[in-house]
Amino acid sequence: MTTNTLLPTSTAGSLPKPSWLAEPEMLWSPWKLSGDELVIGKQDALRVALQEQQLAGIDIVSDGEQTRQHFVTTFIEHLEGVDFEERRTVKIRDRYDASVPRVVGPVKRPLSVFVEDARFLRAQTHRQIKWALPGPMTMVDTLYDDHYRNREALAFEFAGIINQEARELEAAGVDIIQLDEPAFNVFFDEVNDWGIDCMNKAIEGLACETVVHVCYGYGIKANTDWKKTLGSEWRQYEAVFPKLQQSNIDIISLECHNSRVPMGLLELVRGKKVMVGAIDVANESIETPDEVAATLREALQYVDADKLYPSTNCGMAPLSRQVARGKMNALRAGAEIVREELAA
Ligand code: ZN
Repeated sequence: MTTNTLLPTSTAGSLPKPSWLAEPEMLWSPWKLSGDELVIGKQDALRVALQEQQLAGIDIVSDGEQTRQHFVTTFIEHLEGVDFEERRTVKIRDRYDASVPRVVGPVKRPLSVFVEDARFLRAQTHRQIKWALPGPMTMVDTLYDDHYRNREALAFEFAGIINQEARELEAAGVDIIQLDEPAFNVFFDEVNDWGIDCMNKAIEGLACETVVHVCYGYGIKANTDWKKTLGSEWRQYEAVFPKLQQSNIDIISLECHNSRVPMGLLELVRGKKVMVGAIDVANESIETPDEVAATLREALQYVDADKLYPSTNCGMAPLSRQVARGKMNALRAGAEIVREELAA
């Protein structure tokens, strides 16, 4: 399935969960249901998330990550070789301490993780669907490795596991597979040494389109505090764009609106499709369609119109449902303004 719409809109990932499913406006929010009720509750939440996207006029829809507690942890919970009981504290993305699970043996994926959820979503909509998975480097960064004791070796193991899952998601009807790699914005040397090869391995053999999402993180305090230290120009992308441009990935998903990323850096990935973040997820105020349009127009100086995908900077799980809905409406309305300009 492909879309013929110019400037097709999508969100980067998660959407808020209904308050009957999980505590709203927080990450790692505990489930309020259990057993069969939880299974059905997650499916109902997925239906609602889809409905909200479709009502807002989002072209490429997702599950809004309604079936996962966290974009990395939930995937890892389904793997063998990881101990969630005896945890260790590590510094995540060189930024904040967190108590994390421990790799204690060879990592394996005994069963598919999200394939049933993807089939469920596929059955509900004719629109293109995008499915996000954690990228290998970001997975490594959220664990304490007591087995491989080598970030590269563990990342390549994860790339193989992600590839198995991605192939099954594709077979279930997913049109676009996304790898979330916020760690690409921190570990530049690793990205350039082995991170891109590792990403290529994760998407090997896929016929569907692929995205790598490289952002500055959710709008949580640890991230907004970090952003304050980055100065007036955020040039992190510059360190990895040349290699990303040469990689096998089809689409690069980036944070742009309200961030201090110089838009001219997009020149370095010329030729790739770009999901341009035109919605700030670290801010409750809803963008106007004109603000969205202004961000897209600026991006159009460096990205061909047929390669520009308006999106959000990151996931919206920590926001209220009302704010997320308003932001999706603004995204669609802003894209419409620019579509009309391009048609004129
Ligand atoms: Zn993100």
